[in-house]
Amino acid sequence: MITALGGGVGAAKFLNGLTKLVPNEELTLIINTADDIELYGFNISPDIDTIIYRLSGNIDTDKGWGLKGDSLNVLNSLSSFGIETWFGLGDRDFATQVFKKELALNGKSKTEITNLTASSFGLGNLNILPMSDQSVETWIETNEGEMHFQEYYIKRRMEPEVTGLNLRGIEDAKPSPGVLNALANSDLIIICPSNPIISIGPILEVKGIREAVVNSPAKVIAISPLIGGKPLKGPADKLMRGLGLEASSSEIAKLYKDFLDVMVLDDSDGGEVETINSLEIITFVTDTIMTDDEKSETLSRRILDFLDI
Ligand code: GDP
Repeated sequence: MITALGGGVGAAKFLNGLTKLVPNEELTLIINTADDIELYGFNISPDIDTIIYRLSGNIDTDKGWGLKGDSLNVLNSLSSFGIETWFGLGDRDFATQVFKKELALNGKSKTEITNLTASSFGLGNLNILPMSDQSVETWIETNEGEMHFQEYYIKRRMEPEVTGLNLRGIEDAKPSPGVLNALANSDLIIICPSNPIISIGPILEVKGIREAVVNSPAKVIAISPLIGGKPLKGPADKLMRGLGLEASSSEIAKLYKDFLDVMVLDDSDGGEVETINSLEIITFVTDTIMTDDEKSETLSRRILDFLDI
């Protein structure tokens, strides 16, 4: 059994390759829900939707999120009511949100809603779990005040200076059913190339999850989301620096030091090998940039070969 922890875009690209090599029945995915946001009357889970859209072959590959070929009629109509529409959502993506909202109104949990959505997209045999059924929201403290992560990232385009981070609701969040069991019964735990602060960090902060990773008999491997010390997209470096950390793969290795066995680094970060090895973490240096499906699969194949799986 393999369990993977991940966020949205980077994780989805990586898992798209992994699922070509590992049968769905042998995989459990634990996905971040701390960047969920209440908007347009819906509770939107961008990371879970991105994973489902990508793994079912429906993603808009240019953007890395949303459904391919989707139109924007609903969003454009909403702006004529004076509603702010900075958070992009296509018409068919709105339909996903309506489906989920109906389920929530009928009392279904986030886990059940995720499962039913995945099934509707043909992924019924893949165990995709939200990190928690309880609501957690990431709020970013900046020099212009505190704002929801999506507002900082999308509306404000990462312009305000980050000074801190607040995971609202994390104290009351419990691992969703199946999470602790999957971690305890895995041979391999993969930390996807996702933002360590706002994607992997919140998953590990849900009560009991970090301990379950530390105590699992599984080998734990992480793929760095940084290429040459920078994210391919998103605010990983800005958030790390804003929290007083260095933006580097070795700094990420330090964040995972209590459980990490192997760190996969991009060729451009080969200079960090010694520092990471000094943390008693094995390194595997390879091309980690996944520009298409084939490169995603090649990366997974190299990693599984390296691990002799
Ligand atoms: P988000 O919440 O949708 O931004 O999703 P993630 O946290 O999963 O993704 C953001 C991270 O994925 C960024 O730090 C990117 O650098 C990383 N990422 C995206 N594509 C790739 C890739 O092809 N290779 C690697 N190594 N990282 C990637």
